[in-house]
Formats: sequence, structure tokens, C-alpha cells
Amino acid sequence: MKINDIEKFAQNIESKIFFDYDVKHLNWFNIGGKTQIFFKPESLKDLKEFLKLYKKRGKIFILGAGSNILFSDKLFEGVVIKLGKNFNKISKLAEDKIIAGSIVIDRVLSDFAKENAISGFEFLSCIPGTVGGGLRMNSGCYGSEFKDIVLSVQAIDYKGNIITIPSKKIKFNYRESDLSNDLLFLSASFLGKKSNIQDISNKIQKFKKEKEISQPSKIKTGGSTFKNPINYTKHKVWELIKQSVPENTKFGDAFISSHHANFFVNKKEAKFHDMMMLIDYVKEQVKKKFNINLELEIKIIK
Ligand SMILES: Cc1cc2nc3c(=O)[nH]c(=O)nc-3n(C[C@H](O)[C@H](O)[C@H](O)COP(=O)(O)OP(=O)(O)OC[C@H]3O[C@@H](n4cnc5c(N)ncnc54)[C@H](O)[C@@H]3O)c2cc1C
Repeated sequence: MKINDIEKFAQNIESKIFFDYDVKHLNWFNIGGKTQIFFKPESLKDLKEFLKLYKKRGKIFILGAGSNILFSDKLFEGVVIKLGKNFNKISKLAEDKIIAGSIVIDRVLSDFAKENAISGFEFLSCIPGTVGGGLRMNSGCYGSEFKDIVLSVQAIDYKGNIITIPSKKIKFNYRESDLSNDLLFLSASFLGKKSNIQDISNKIQKFKKEKEISQPSKIKTGGSTFKNPINYTKHKVWELIKQSVPENTKFGDAFISSHHANFFVNKKEAKFHDMMMLIDYVKEQVKKKFNINLELEIKIIK
């Protein structure tokens, strides 16, 4: 991919553009090689101009907190875009409405809602992603998902056009939305319910405690590797894995968490290949034992 013009463009803008940039430290798994271009837009103007110049000549990947992705070790032939701090703003639009930039961390949005006595955002205190990642994944836990609070999404397409999509035009399903893959979300507005801070705080504490018990923390993981099978409700996916695969299964440094069988862990220096071997092996064993085709929740980026 030719990038001379982008190198020139990089010298004339405030935002940072890096070349041959390591993605390993940009994701929770701590796995991955380099991307040809890493762009951190600090303004809408720079972002728009970049997209118009880039013209989809290579791949485009939009990165949030990197808590749901597994990057390949091979060179990513394109651009990884991660919104800069100017997209990290959050404010109250009305008594029960909030607008948040796409790079706002879910926990921060949850805290902001609490401080403003708006309920409905408590579940976000348990998800380590950003607003952008949550919109794409329809992330959720404890009976709530993004779809329950989103009012509208503001986005930019890869030609540089800005659009607003009302939530009624978005189809949210279990851990996915039909928002076009050719969109970068800039911000979203949310609707909650007026409540009181103490009730909200109690709910958050309850969720956090449950999370602490049910999921491992302080590990290099992408969270739930597979989705729970929709048409098979007898067992959760972690139970299917536990019953199909020995607990100490590993490939290189890629392990299954002893705390939660659907969390795969990079214990030290696992490579992309190790993690893929583990993923494929688990898929195969669950298919053999239960005749169920597991679907990935984490996104593989290559
Ligand atoms: C310890 C742990 C616990 C977790 N617990 C939960 C849980 O309880 N519930 C749950 O649902 N998930 C959970 N996850 C998964 C993950 O945190 C969520 O899916 C989260 O919403 C992903 O957000 P992110 O910003 O990290 O997205 P990333 O992982 O960076 O990206 C995920 C997807 O979103 C897209 N994306 C990100 N930002 C934008 C944007 N601005 N515009 C367009 N596309 C964008 C990416 O391109 C990619 O396709 C957990 C993960 C970990 C590591």
C-alpha cells in the first residue's frame, strides 16, 4: 500500500499518525504485530481529511479499548484508528439524557450517570470497553445491554460524511448490531431514568461483587471468547467448554482461565497462533461432545 501522501499529511496536522506501529500494547490480550498506519485523530477535521485522503486503499480497523479483539501477529495492511482525547467528552443533555464520545470508557459513563442520578447505566460499571465498542457489540451484562439505553449514534462514514442514526433504525441482537462496518462511531446519546444516587450506587456495588466472584480479573484476556449458543439454553458456553475440554489445556502460553472456562488467557508471551490453536481446539471439542457450533464473540483482526 502506497502511503507517501499520508506521510506528508501527517506532518501538517495536529493529530498523531504513526507508521509500522506495534498493536500489542493496544489490546487486552497483549497479542499482535504491527499495523502499517496507526492514526489517533484529535479533531473531526483531521479525521475527515484523513478518511478522504485514505479512500479505503487498504483495510480500516476502528479500535476502542481493545477488550474484545484478537490481533494477528502479521502486519496489518491498512490503518488502525483510535479516537483521541477530544472524543472523550461526556455531558448531560437533559434530566435523563446523556451524550458521550465514543472513546469514553463504559465505567466512566456509568459513574457520570450515577453522579447525575440517572439509572439504567449501572451494568456499564462491569464492562471494560468504550462506548464505541459497546455500540458495535451491543455489550451487556446482568440483564441490560447497550440497546436498552441508546437513543442515537453519531458516526462518520469512510468517505467523510457525518450521519446520525436513531436507535429505532438500529437492529441490536445478542452481542452484535447491524450498524454498517463502514462507519466510525463518534458519539452516542443515551436515555436513562431519573432515580436516586443511593439506589444506583447499591446496584453498581451488587454487580461489581457478582463480577468479582464469577470472572477473573487482572489477566490478559478478551473476555468471553464465544457467544452463548442462542438456540441451546440448557448450558452456558463456559459449561459446554468445561465439560468438553480438560481444564489444563494450553497451546504455548494460551490458557483457559481456571476461573471462567470461556475466558482465554495470555499467561506470558502467547502468540496469535497459540490463541487460535486454543480457540479452534475448544470449538472442535464442543462440536464433538455436544454437536454445537460455537460462534466467536471476540473479533479476530488480520
Ligand atoms: C475482563 C473482561 C470482561 C468483559 N466483560 C464483558 C461483559 O460483561 N459483557 C460484555 O458484553 N462484554 C464484556 N467484555 C468484552 C468487551 O469489554 C466488550 O465487548 C466491550 O464493549 C468492547 O469495547 P472496546 O472499546 O474494548 O472495543 P474493542 O475491543 O476495541 O473493539 C470491539 C469492536 O468494536 C468496534 N469499535 C470500537 N470502537 C468503535 C468506534 N468508535 N466506531 C466503530 N466501531 C468501533 C471495533 O472495530 C471492534 O469491531 C469483557 C472483556 C474483558 C476483557
